[in-house]
Amino acid sequence: MHIKNQETLKKENQSLVLELILSESPISRAEIAKRTKMSPTSASRIVASLKELGLIREVSLSSDGLGRKALYFIPDEMSVISIGAEITPHDVHIGFVGFKGKLIVKETVKYSDNDPHAMANLLYQTVEDMIHSNGLGNKKIVGMCVGLPGLIEHKVGNVRLSAQFDWHDVPLAKIFSEKFGFGISIDNALKLRAFAEYNLDEELVNKNMAMIGFGTGVGSALVFDGEIYRGENNFSGEIGHSIVDPYGIACTCGNIGCLQTYISERFLLDEASKCSDITTMDELVEAYLGEEKWAVNILNKAITYAAITINNVICVNNPNAVVLSGKFIVNYSVIREKIIAKYQELLWSPIENTFDLKVTRLGSEGTILGAALSVQRYFVKNLDV
Ligand SMILES: [Zn+2]
Repeated sequence: MHIKNQETLKKENQSLVLELILSESPISRAEIAKRTKMSPTSASRIVASLKELGLIREVSLSSDGLGRKALYFIPDEMSVISIGAEITPHDVHIGFVGFKGKLIVKETVKYSDNDPHAMANLLYQTVEDMIHSNGLGNKKIVGMCVGLPGLIEHKVGNVRLSAQFDWHDVPLAKIFSEKFGFGISIDNALKLRAFAEYNLDEELVNKNMAMIGFGTGVGSALVFDGEIYRGENNFSGEIGHSIVDPYGIACTCGNIGCLQTYISERFLLDEASKCSDITTMDELVEAYLGEEKWAVNILNKAITYAAITINNVICVNNPNAVVLSGKFIVNYSVIREKIIAKYQELLWSPIENTFDLKVTRLGSEGTILGAALSVQRYFVKNLDV
């Protein structure tokens, strides 16, 4: 029988208590003991050790509405900082994030060369500049994660395929880690965004959540039991290439009639270019609002397929919270309202009232927040201080 030594046990208990304080703060010592099923003495000892490490703080708050004060614990937001980054087709976004998801500072840098080594240099230089210009040099920075669209084998740090950058089997985490001199993880951007949404929206606590993104691509991401659901290779949720019409339009993947050919920006603009000289989504939506027939046809079809996607994701996964995100949802309220109205019309009746439907609350920082939070999660679970 394997007997855990004292040191391992202590670290595990520290992780357990710290996770609880992160998710439930402010929380009292008695509540910590109750929730972790530890004796009050053990809970006190662990809380004291976390305080000594500077990871948590004590605050005195009114406990009963009568003005009586009691002691509660909260994470020290500046004690642990992680870096989250997102690579999009023209920009790199980088954020430094404090414990519990507070965005301390964010930068966006444009790039023209998407060679992975050039990108590693750009990331490195920007991170260095941000550390110096914001006086973060003496802080505990626990790691960095980079999110991007595509099939990302996060365990081995490999980009299996990212169509937006034309990357095939790029060992991106290794290239970045060599430049930085410490381990950097990579992950699918939508999965990270879903992780941030789950952790930063109090209404989603203990929910089983599906996020569906409509924008440059179409995807879904699940956070079930507090963890990102990944499948075998981290490819779970890649609904963009589910085939909806085998006699439809040719997709970039080589198949015919993939879902994304009806919804994603690139295909909608391709379709629009056959009827008009517009080049942007803003122009397409404007033509739609102006009731130009070709634009109405293209977008009504996209709205219907988006509504079908919502129905199908719910049918397959049975979540109790569904969060809509992506450019179409966030930037174009008219399209959003039409998608929501259409899905209500199409929804399979037995699953009505089994979930709440929400629109993302996170702005453009969603992926960097999720990336930074995933690093902190790893830090807390493998506490080594
Ligand atoms: Zn496809």
